[in-house]
Amino acid sequence: MRWAAGIAANTVPLVFNAHRKQRLAILIYHRVMPAPDPMRPGEPTVDEFDSQMHLLRQYFHPLPLVEAVERLQTGTLPDGAVCVTFDDGYADNEIHARPVLDKYRIPATVFVSTGFLNGGRMWNDTVIEVIRGCKDSALDLRELNLGCYPLGTIEQRRQAADNILVQIKHLDPGARIALVDQIAKHGSALPGDLMLTDAQVQSLARNGVSIGGHTVNHPILSSVPVGMARREIQDSKLYLENVIQEPVEVFAYPNGRPGLDYDIEHRNLVRELGFKVAVSTHWGVGTRASDRYQLPRFTPWDRHPLKFGLRLLGNYRRLDPLLVAGR
Ligand SMILES: [Zn+2]
Repeated sequence: MRWAAGIAANTVPLVFNAHRKQRLAILIYHRVMPAPDPMRPGEPTVDEFDSQMHLLRQYFHPLPLVEAVERLQTGTLPDGAVCVTFDDGYADNEIHARPVLDKYRIPATVFVSTGFLNGGRMWNDTVIEVIRGCKDSALDLRELNLGCYPLGTIEQRRQAADNILVQIKHLDPGARIALVDQIAKHGSALPGDLMLTDAQVQSLARNGVSIGGHTVNHPILSSVPVGMARREIQDSKLYLENVIQEPVEVFAYPNGRPGLDYDIEHRNLVRELGFKVAVSTHWGVGTRASDRYQLPRFTPWDRHPLKFGLRLLGNYRRLDPLLVAGR
């Protein structure tokens, strides 16, 4: 794969090289799709993911997460250091992403919410799949105070899903589950194979993918009592360690925005419970001064490999916002 016709392959990385020293970019993925899914336009296809991993292998320095953080903190990180991470624990991480990771020998980490393993489904996927499969021309959720949506086109269906997801995202988990159960009555034949099984988690781990905690039920930690947050963090770690028979050393905060989706008390819990590294979703690159329990990440959403590469390079200039803010 070339950067693009007319652009010298080595020119662009050299321009940015000064910004790639002792900085760690950590990419966030969720799913890798076998074909474009109009209900999930943000997710890369296998071919797009393949191009992105090819580019990482050619121009960057992919590393396992714990090793990268240790080298960041000892000042021994190679230029263009990058980690690949996946959140939530989708089955396609094993089925579609791992063969590509193997092809380019890219280390990766999959953060698993253990409550959805083995046939479960995250609430946002329930909403999306209900709307995808709804046979009616409109979805009337006015009795739930969620509005009424035309479903005549795929674009309308996608907009309906976006609209409903925004409205219920920050509800208390119990209220959200009750609401999603009501919405699910409008759907049929919802998929039960979206998430990993225990056997697929074992296969990932056996094949060099590190497995990380991401709670049990994916609550927004700052919105639940601290005792529940502790159990959510600890139970996912214990469950995964039992499945893979190895220590689980890395954690990703659900939703992941510092000060909004989790607070410093959750960061301290993660350290206390024995994790070595935790990642958030604030955008930027980690530096030697970054908190290893709140490392920034970055979502590379561009489809075209050149734009993907340029955006990733640009991200190396965006220092950890927690350091800039002095938190
Ligand atoms: Zn998540």
